[in-house]
Amino acid sequence: MAGTIASRLPDFPDFDLTAVTVATEIIGLGLRPSSASAFCPVCHQPTTRIHSRYSRTLADGSVHRRQLLLRVAARKFVCVNPLCG
Ligand SMILES: [Zn+2]
Repeated sequence: MAGTIASRLPDFPDFDLTAVTVATEIIGLGLRPSSASAFCPVCHQPTTRIHSRYSRTLADGSVHRRQLLLRVAARKFVCVNPLCG
């Protein structure tokens, strides 16, 4: 059964899979962004300086008749461009 479920999980190319939990009605996936940087939405310069981290939980359809919950370890970045407002 677990092999069947694993073969039906969606692919998240920009995330690393950190945890898989399979229960009677729910499949939970822990995801972490694979990129070490992000682009400032204002000046579009890349930054690796992390301001804070937080967790987001999203429901995303179903797999193998179980609800799929995604727990994403999100990050907020700080722009390091001194000319950026
Ligand atoms: Zn910026």
